[in-house]
Formats: sequence, structure tokens, C-alpha cells
Amino acid sequence: TRLNNDFQFLDVGRKDPTKKDLETRRHKFVEIYQPFTKDEVANQAHRCLACGNPYCEWKCPVHNFIPNWLKLISEGNIFEAAELSHQTNSLPEVCGRVCPQDRLCEGACTLNDGFGAVTIGNAEKYITDTAFAMGWKPDMSKVVWTDKKVAVIGAGPAGIGCADVLVRNGVKPVVFDKYPEIGGLLTFGIPEFKLEKSVMSRRRKVFEEMGVEFRLNTEVGKDITLEQLLRDYDAVFMGMGTYNYMKGGFPGEDLPGVYDALPFLVSNVNRNLGFEKSPEDFISVKGKRIVVLGGGDTAMDCNRTSIRQGATSVTCAYRRDEDNMPGSKREVANAKEEGVQFLFNRQPVEVVGNGKVEGVKVVTTQLGEPDAKGRRSPVVVPGSEEILPADVVLIAFGFRPSPQPWFETNGVKTNDWGGVIAPEHQPFKFQTSNPKVFAGGDMVRGSDLVVTAIWEGREAAQGILDYLNV
Ligand code: FAD
Ligand code: SF4
Repeated sequence: TRLNNDFQFLDVGRKDPTKKDLETRRHKFVEIYQPFTKDEVANQAHRCLACGNPYCEWKCPVHNFIPNWLKLISEGNIFEAAELSHQTNSLPEVCGRVCPQDRLCEGACTLNDGFGAVTIGNAEKYITDTAFAMGWKPDMSKVVWTDKKVAVIGAGPAGIGCADVLVRNGVKPVVFDKYPEIGGLLTFGIPEFKLEKSVMSRRRKVFEEMGVEFRLNTEVGKDITLEQLLRDYDAVFMGMGTYNYMKGGFPGEDLPGVYDALPFLVSNVNRNLGFEKSPEDFISVKGKRIVVLGGGDTAMDCNRTSIRQGATSVTCAYRRDEDNMPGSKREVANAKEEGVQFLFNRQPVEVVGNGKVEGVKVVTTQLGEPDAKGRRSPVVVPGSEEILPADVVLIAFGFRPSPQPWFETNGVKTNDWGGVIAPEHQPFKFQTSNPKVFAGGDMVRGSDLVVTAIWEGREAAQGILDYLNV
């Protein structure tokens, strides 16, 4: 039944979408949430209070018109909701799936104060999934084409966000990516249980119909140079991500059986998508005891991929407490349900083993006395050393930018941690020190979120349009 009154939030509680059964979740690389039904989404959307000054909109990095599209779906106007949702976001159905909503829009919802936030992320995902299924396509009928074209390096969220805004303003984007499919980490990083890969292949078709050209399997710096792009295009956008893996700096990190998180996750995706070049490229953890080091989204994805591959045990050791984990709380809860064991306040000091991994030596930490500024740093508890038995160790300590030598030779400056310098304003948004080159996403801000990369790509496109005076 569908309720419809202004105090709906008093009668109808927050409802998260139903999860698939644990047996499926532990074995299959499929999304774990069932989609909302038409009535469910309408009931949930109508819980929105339509606050005059919506905090959710402010907190959402792309500033989605959240209460407006919630009203449209509560009335059943899916196509209008999809048009409106695409005015601010290039990949709403992706953000609806992977944003840490508890820290962003839903964390800021007024109803979070005791009633349960509106399920904004799932409503956002529902709008685009349903609109596409009903045959909706972005309306390009009013686009006036210019003679300008822009090269976009990287088909991740930043590059896609940039290409989307350019093409809607009549500027032809040609997107180069070294991978065989678009999406960047959305395809070759984030596993299927959070985001099924058909979502991105569907998107590729939509963008191609809009006029975006993708040149995949093409690495800039190898197959084509930046100099060539600068010669052949009116401007260049770089959205190349961050791909230097951070190390722990402790002994044993080079033992056979220790892997960086991303090669492990990518090898899994390549196998599932049929992109695997040789069976030796696949990192299998079936029948093995796994220790994952780290506490962010990447660590959670390693944990849950290991469970699905059939590891005998998966232990995640994190150096702080649960409240201070950087990853989404929803994904930590999902990992626990699927059988991951968490050990908090454990600092790894060594990977031990004779010719291969046998375990990880950790010490327990606790918060020490406040310093002069009142800050409490973790200190090691004396005598707390223990060895966590392991056959495979997956290291998920994060990423640093990976600047290429051809950045500097083309006048694109980087800062002291390797990030490309591209200020948010002045004189054109996200312009680098080479006026014809713009940049955004992880390679500018350091590894962060899908939605912030999309926002920077979209803002940079605005900078390019202003620079090209179109
Ligand atoms: P990327 O997504 O890294 O895309 C960069 C693209 O540039 C890639 O496709 C790459 O192939 C291409 N490229 C690089 N160099 C070249 C070159 N020379 N020539 C051609 N192409 C090139 N964020 C969330 O919001 N929610 C999550 O749940 C989440 N989970 C994550 C899980 C994992 C395992 C990881 C690693 C990250 C996760 N993130 C998550 C972070 C998020 O994926 C990134 O912040 C986001 O993808 C950054 O977008 P980007 O466009 O800047 O870079
Ligand atoms: Fe929330 Fe992310 Fe959607 Fe913004 S883009 S409304 S933060 S789920």
C-alpha cells in the first residue's frame, strides 16, 4: 500500500533495500541488494520533509537536487526525475550504489535525528536504472554543436564527468583509456558485489549515443603522446587516478604470498569479465587463510572478494578502532555478515615466513595520554605481540599519485606529494600550469571518492568551456 501524507515519516520508517541471502553473497560476484519496488521507492521518497534549506544537498559533493527528485519519484515521474538527476550528476546510478551515504547526503538528512534518514542513495539508483529500463535517454535535442574537440585522458569517474558536461555543451570529447572498458576503478577496482559491470557497459552505449568517443586500449605516453593531443585538440583533460601503492615499510613485505590490494582485485575482475590475458595473472585465495591489512573501502573489497573466492578464513587487521575506520560503515557491516573477522587496534610490524608467508606479526595499540594540544596518539601495549597465521597477505594501505615524466616536460606541474596542481578556481576551474591542460579526480586531490572525482571532472569541463569561450 502506498501512503501519501505530509507526516509520512511518522507512519513509515526508513527501509533499506532487502539483501540477497548470505549463501549467494558468500559465493557469487553479484550485487547484494534487491532493487526497490515502485511502491517501496515512492513510500520512502515521500518521507522527505522537503526542508527549505536541504542539508543533504549541501553535503552531497555534486549538490544533487535531492528533495526535488524525491518528490518527482513519489509522484511516479521517473523521466523528469532522471533528467533532473542528470543535471548535477554524470553517473547517478553509480553514486547511488557506491557513495558512503552515511557520511554524505543521508548523514546530513534532518530525519537522521531519530527517525532514520531518507534512503537517498537507493532512490537515486532507482531513478536511473528504471528510466533506462523504460527507454529513457538523455535529451540532447537542444545541443548546439561547436567545432571544438577535447581529448580526455582516463575513462574513470573524473574523465566521464568531464566528457558528459562537454558533450552536452556541443564540444566533442574523445576519451582515451589504457583499459579495454570504461569506468576506471568503477570497472577495474570496485567489485561486482557493490557495482555490477553491466552498469558501466550500459553507460558506455548511452555516452556513445550522446556523441562521446572512447578510444580504449590506448595508453597516453605510449600509444599516443600528450604532445600529439595538444596539437590535435583544443584542450586536454587529465583524469588518470592514483596508482602508486602505499607500503607498510616493515620486513617481509616482499615475501611470496604478499600482494597489493589492487592487482588482486583487478585479476579477479579480469577473470570475471573475460579480460584475463593468462591464467597465471589470476591471484587465487581459494582454500587459504587470508589476512587483509587496512581499514578503508579497498580493504573491505579485498575481504569480501576473498570470501567469495573460497578462502578458509579472512581476518582484517586495522590499526585504529572501529569508529575511526575510513571506509563506509555499510560495507564494514556487510563484510562482518559475510564472515570476515575484524581485529581492531592491531599494528602490523612484520610479515613472517620462511620463503613464503606464514603469518603477520602485529602489536596491540591503545590511545595514549593527551599531548600539549590534547591529541591522543596510539601507543603500543607492552608484551602484546602476536602472530596471525596466514597463507596470503593483502595490503590495502591506500594509493599515492603516479605522475608521469611527460607531465613536467609539457609544463604540467605537480606538488610535493605528486598530485597535479589544478586549482578549483583561477583563472579557469581546474586548469593546470599548462593553460591548455585541465585535470581532476584522484590525481589532483589524492585518492578519494567516485562522487568527488565526478564533481571535479564536471567543474573542469566548465573551466574548459570558459577557456574555449563556448
Ligand atoms: P580512476 O577511477 O582511477 O580512473 C583513471 C583512469 O585513467 C583509469 O581508467 C586508467 O586506466 C586511466 N589512465 C591512467 N593513466 C592513463 C594513461 N596514461 N593513458 C590512458 N589512460 C590512463 N569510492 C567510492 O566513492 N565508493 C567506494 O565504494 C569506493 N570503493 C573503492 C574500492 C577500491 C578497491 C578502490 C581502489 C577505490 C574505491 N573508491 C571508492 C575510490 C574511487 O574508485 C576513486 O576515488 C575514483 O574512481 C577516482 O576516479 P578518477 O577518475 O580520478 O580515477
Ligand atoms: Fe548522496 Fe552520493 Fe547521490 Fe550525492 S551523489 S545524493 S552523496 S548518494
